[in-house]
Amino acid sequence: MNTVPVAGAYPAPVEELRLRTRAFIRGTVIPAEPRPGQALNLALRRELQAAARDAGVFAPHVPVEFGGQGLAVEHWSPVFQEAGYSPIGPAVLNAMAPDEGNMHMLQLIGSDGQKRKFLTPLAAGDISSCFAMSEPHPGAGSDPDALATTAVRDGSGWRIDGHKRFTSGATFASFAIVMARTRADRESPAGATMFLVPMDTPGVRIGNPIHTVDSYLPGGHPNVHFDGVHVPGSAILGEAGLGFKYAQVRLGPARLTHCMRWLGLARRAMDIMLDRANTREIFGAHLSQLGIAQDMIAQSVIDIETSDAIIAKCAALLAVDAKAGSALSSVAKVHVSEAVYRVIDRAVQLCGGDGVSDGLPLAQYLNEVRPFRIYDGSTETHKWAIARRTASERRRAVEAGEPFQGAARIYEGER
Ligand SMILES: Cc1cc2nc3c(=O)[nH]c(=O)nc-3n(C[C@H](O)[C@H](O)[C@H](O)COP(=O)(O)OP(=O)(O)OC[C@H]3O[C@@H](n4cnc5c(N)ncnc54)[C@H](O)[C@@H]3O)c2cc1C
Repeated sequence: MNTVPVAGAYPAPVEELRLRTRAFIRGTVIPAEPRPGQALNLALRRELQAAARDAGVFAPHVPVEFGGQGLAVEHWSPVFQEAGYSPIGPAVLNAMAPDEGNMHMLQLIGSDGQKRKFLTPLAAGDISSCFAMSEPHPGAGSDPDALATTAVRDGSGWRIDGHKRFTSGATFASFAIVMARTRADRESPAGATMFLVPMDTPGVRIGNPIHTVDSYLPGGHPNVHFDGVHVPGSAILGEAGLGFKYAQVRLGPARLTHCMRWLGLARRAMDIMLDRANTREIFGAHLSQLGIAQDMIAQSVIDIETSDAIIAKCAALLAVDAKAGSALSSVAKVHVSEAVYRVIDRAVQLCGGDGVSDGLPLAQYLNEVRPFRIYDGSTETHKWAIARRTASERRRAVEAGEPFQGAARIYEGER
C-alpha cells in the first residue's frame, strides 16, 4: 500500500529523497533479499550499502557533515517507511536499530572526541554498535530501576561488572553503549551512567546466543558479559549519573523510527494481501469482493493510516519539544506495534496456506514484528506509564484551577 503524501506536507527535497529511496528499495534491494528466515550477510550488506551511497539515499537521518542526507526528525517517517518496505532496507541504508538510535544519541550528547572516534565510522557504515541495557532476572528488563550492572571508580577510570542479554547486534559490533549503576559521589548523583565500551576491551565476552523468532539482524541478540572491564573516564557518554535521562533521549526517537520501519513492512504485507485478494477466485468471486475479506482489508487500511498519523504527530512534536514528544512516543509505540502485527497477521490469513509457507515472506514478517510488542518497552509497560502520566497531569491541572468534572450531580427530587 503506497504512502500517499499530503500535497505540500513535506519540502520538495524530502519528497525527492522519498522517491529516490522508493526506487532504490524496489529496484535494487528487493531483488537481493535473502530467503525468509535468513539474515542479511555482511558482504551483501556492504555491497548494497555502496549502491545506496551511489544512489544518494544512504543514512537519511545522519547530518550531512557525517556523510548522511541530513533529514530533520519531522521528515524521517516518509523515507524510513520506504526503507522498511524491505525487511533489509533499513540495514542497507544504515538506518537500522540499534545503530540508528546510538548515532542519534552520540550526535546529541557525545563529546567531539567521541563523535570522531565512534559516530564518524558508525554513520559511514564502516562499523556497527550495540546497546546493552537488559539483564537476566533480577536485573533490568521492563523495570530499568532493577539495573544490576555496576560501574565503580577505579584509579583514573571505571570498572564495569555485569551480565547483559538480548544485546542486539553485539556479535559483530565494534562498541557497546553500556548502562551501569553508579554511586553518588562529589562529582555526580547516584543513578545510572552510560559508557562507550569497545568490544575488544579485556573482560568483554559474548556469551550464549538467544534464539528469537526474528532473523534479519546478523548475529541476533546474544548475552554479553562484562567482567572487571576497565575503561577510562573519557568513556562516559554525557555525564555520570544521568544515564536514565539519556535513555529517554535515545528511546523517544528510537521507538518512533521502529514504528516507521515496521509500518513500511506492514505496507508491503498489505500489497501482498491485496494482490492475492484481487486475483484469487473462490465461491464465484474474487476474494477482494467477499465481505469478511473486505472487512480485513478495510481494518488494515485503518490500522496503517492511524499509525501513519500518530507517527507524523509524534515526529513533529519531537522536533519542538523532546520531552512531550518522548511521552507521546509511548502512545505511538503501543498503537503501531499492535497495528502492524494485526495487518501482517490478516495478510497471512488471506493468503491461506501460502501465508504460512516460505513461498511468501509473510510468516517471517510476523516473526520480525512480534518482538516489537516487547522491546523498547512492552505494550503493558507503556499502557501503565501512559495511564499514570495522564491521571497525574489531570490531577495537577485540577489543583491549578481547572474545574473539577468528577462530582456526580444530584437533581432536585432525587435525594
Ligand atoms: C528481539 C529483541 C531485541 C532486543 N534488543 C535489545 C537490545 O538491543 N538492548 C537491550 O538492552 N535490550 C534488548 N531487548 C530486551 C528488551 O528490551 C526486554 O526484553 C524488554 O525490556 C522486557 O524485559 P524482559 O524481557 O526482562 O521482560 P519482563 O521485564 O520480565 O516483562 C515481562 C512482561 O511483563 C509485562 N509487563 C511489563 N510491565 C508491566 C506492567 N507495568 N503491568 C503489567 N504487565 C507488565 C509485559 O507483558 C512484559 O512483556 C531485546 C528484546 C528482544 C525480544
